[in-house]
Amino acid sequence: MTELADRLASVQSAIDDAARDAGRSASELTTIVVTKFHPASLVRELAALGVTDIGENRHQDAAPKAAQLTDLDLTWHFIGQLQSKKARQVREYARVIHSIDRESLVDSLASAEHPLDCFIQINLTDDPSRGGVHATDLELLVEKVIGAPGMTLLGLMAVAPLGEEPRQAFAEVRQLSERVRAIVPTATKLSMGMSGDFREAVLEGATHLRIGTAITGNRPSPG
Ligand SMILES: *Cc1c(COP(=O)(O)O)cnc(C)c1O
Repeated sequence: MTELADRLASVQSAIDDAARDAGRSASELTTIVVTKFHPASLVRELAALGVTDIGENRHQDAAPKAAQLTDLDLTWHFIGQLQSKKARQVREYARVIHSIDRESLVDSLASAEHPLDCFIQINLTDDPSRGGVHATDLELLVEKVIGAPGMTLLGLMAVAPLGEEPRQAFAEVRQLSERVRAIVPTATKLSMGMSGDFREAVLEGATHLRIGTAITGNRPSPG
């Protein structure tokens, strides 16, 4: 517990520093602690330390954890690639989906009875297996989301490509976000920044940081 508390506090203070250096208020930032591959007990410890936002990337891991922790007031964020056939099940516990990457997924998720906040994920690489929509198809997907019952578009999500300067990648996302806001002025949020690059993300306007190992310690290997 103590080590976890220490790591959480040191990441929080690094986020505060980055916000200050960017001339921003840390209160504009939501820190999502990514607990993939960790047991529900770790999520419970995080909640006891005041964490309210939890990120998971695989439905088969996330669903049992969320089911074990319904007594806690947590916001579950789904951040991984999502198969359309799992969409309805993910909607049962996730309040925010960060990985909208195609129109068919929007059809599977949309429901007037299940309000969902979502981010469109941008693929900044040429590798289609990385997840995310290519920038050329961005406007079409934005139109699709805003026409979908129950879905609110918060903004864009991205992962900085390996081997690229993260600040450059995040600046690109910030620019793409202008194209989104031209269609939906309220979709101002940016989900970007992980353990290794959250400072760069804050400097480029991130509002939602997805931080795993810097807080949780090393992940157990995928089950
Ligand atoms: C695992 C993961 C993270 C967190 O990564 P860390 O490097 O452990 O901070 C963030 N975003 C996505 C999409 C992830 O899959």
